[in-house]
Amino acid sequence: MRKVVITMNEMKLSKRLQTVAEYIPDGAVIADIGSDHAYLPCYAVLNHIASRAIAGEITDGPFLSAKQQVEKLNLSSHISVRQGDGLEVIQKGEVDAITIAGMGGSLIAHILESGKDKLTGKERLILQPNIHAIHIREWLYKEGYALVSEMILEEDGKCYEVLAAEAGDKDAAYEGFSFEAGMLVGPFLAKEKNAVFTKKWTQELEHTEKIHEQISRAAQSGHNKQKLAELTKRIELLKEVIGHG
Ligand code: SAM
Repeated sequence: MRKVVITMNEMKLSKRLQTVAEYIPDGAVIADIGSDHAYLPCYAVLNHIASRAIAGEITDGPFLSAKQQVEKLNLSSHISVRQGDGLEVIQKGEVDAITIAGMGGSLIAHILESGKDKLTGKERLILQPNIHAIHIREWLYKEGYALVSEMILEEDGKCYEVLAAEAGDKDAAYEGFSFEAGMLVGPFLAKEKNAVFTKKWTQELEHTEKIHEQISRAAQSGHNKQKLAELTKRIELLKEVIGHG
């Protein structure tokens, strides 16, 4: 690799993306889908975490930013910037790990579902949803991936989850835990129950209780009754998870 002069900004990733990078297996070839400025693949290659990388982007602006960033750092021999939708930018078997970060959980699950013909099942999937991680856990379970690790962190007042999955026993992570709650909040995160986790789900509980109260005061149509039953169930589940009896 050519020697490059790197500024602090280029070496220093957000705590969120740094956590994603920690899950990249040593020396892996990675694909970072929805790479935007390609900060994650640049960081991973510069720090010798990944041996090579593909930065995938669907949108013109971010695709150009990724290309410029990779060229600026003289990393073109190690990072291939490709424009396309989701996993269509990779060949089957081309990468050891796939990172998809900074999007909603449903979009990440959609990208995986529509590109699943590109997966051998042996890639490590490192997924960082900003919201609705449940859609990713459900997709992983449906497709038979083992959830192997999870992290939750707070940065600039926002909570982020990072999920790592690979081939293995899809049930193992959920053993000894309510399956429904595990899917919603994450089995590893629920067992660890750190301060960020407790804060996130306490806020969610308070929000759900508020909606429940508002609907309780409205006219009791069939639709509202059903909604109230759903909310009551969710409140019980969240109380169980947080440990507020
Ligand atoms: N991954 C970076 C991060 O975590 O900081 C960038 C996140 S940015 C909010 C989401 C990026 O994903 C955007 O640049 C968007 O163009 C891209 N994107 C959205 N859907 C995509 C898809 N189906 N395939 C590839 N890129 C996509």
